[in-house]
Amino acid sequence: MCFSCFGGACRERKGTVSGENDYLCRKKCGMDRFADKLIAWYRRHRRELPWRETRDPYRIWVSEVILQQTRVAQGYDYYCRFIRRFPDVESLAGAGEDEVMRYWQGLGYYSRARNLHTAAKAVAGAGAFPTTFEGVRRLKGVGDYTAAAICAFAYDMPCAVVDGNVYRVLSRYLGVDEDAGTSKGKKLFAALAHEMLDKERPAEYNQAIMDFGALQCVPSSPDCGMCPFAGECSAFRQGRVGEFPRKRRKPKLADRYFNYMYVCAGAYTFIRKRMPGDIWQNLYEFPLVETEKAVTWPELSATPAFRTLFAGKGILSVRPVASGVRHVLSHRVVHADCYAVELSDPGAELPGFRRILAEDFDKFPVSRLVSRFFSLLLKPINQESLIYVIE
Ligand code: SF4
Repeated sequence: MCFSCFGGACRERKGTVSGENDYLCRKKCGMDRFADKLIAWYRRHRRELPWRETRDPYRIWVSEVILQQTRVAQGYDYYCRFIRRFPDVESLAGAGEDEVMRYWQGLGYYSRARNLHTAAKAVAGAGAFPTTFEGVRRLKGVGDYTAAAICAFAYDMPCAVVDGNVYRVLSRYLGVDEDAGTSKGKKLFAALAHEMLDKERPAEYNQAIMDFGALQCVPSSPDCGMCPFAGECSAFRQGRVGEFPRKRRKPKLADRYFNYMYVCAGAYTFIRKRMPGDIWQNLYEFPLVETEKAVTWPELSATPAFRTLFAGKGILSVRPVASGVRHVLSHRVVHADCYAVELSDPGAELPGFRRILAEDFDKFPVSRLVSRFFSLLLKPINQESLIYVIE
């Protein structure tokens, strides 16, 4: 049922999107005011963000990639650092992957950085940033959302951006309880967002609805009494704000058990690059033994992987650095322990690992977990913590 005309005057205008007529009927019944109100709200409340001060598609692209899965407060500093070092697509294309990953370190979802780097090389090779939606969409790692954002913000194209904020605002405002995670839901929300878009002011409208979702129509307990749409918002009028957007059931997270060892031989330590096909691809890490469950040091040192790694090496001392650390990723939880292991032979090598000066360790890109362990290693050593002295 249309909440504006209650199935009356605009009935014959229904039916242009996926058969979800009620929402569109509502739109035709006065939604044209939506953009005006939204933009008026935005002009009073907008956030000053560096990527909004530019029309450079490269900088907009970098900001959008950083902000996927990352809150603005956290992404802000990363963006500024990244752009200071890689101010244009040529400088990014000409950088080595380790350096790019180093600038991304801590942001997570590292495939974003790898794709960005690959696509930058393609753009630099082509000599110019693509200027059509299809051209932008073809860049590695660029999906519909990012392509729409780049085209709207850089080129003022009438492309509707649908991120989590937009999805929440539309689902509440229009009373749409379709799950945006399904292909049917994606199609419906993309169509509704396009219908609602102010085609004359796409850049400002898109920024406005994203900020509105981030600041006013927030995920829990929005202050609907202060909202400019309180009188017409479907969810609010029905007293069902908490029911929108429809929540997806979260997949069960898989558990993994990592046992890291920061191994020292004199002034040297050992690292390796993680391989494709697993988390943290191309990031470096300490020697690692993964186990089926959490294990104690005696259990760890009895595993075949540990014995192979340290075969013939004299272990001088072992110090626990951290234990039972829970590191949550999108689809798994890593339960991690870390030990500092000192070898008796300063010239020792570890098979499959790169020997580097310990003081050079922080030049390599690593996961947030390994970085955290490394910072714990820098704390002064308490001699009493040396619980396993082999020789
Ligand atoms: S009334 Fe509440 S739920 Fe509706 S758009 Fe405003 S903040 Fe969101």
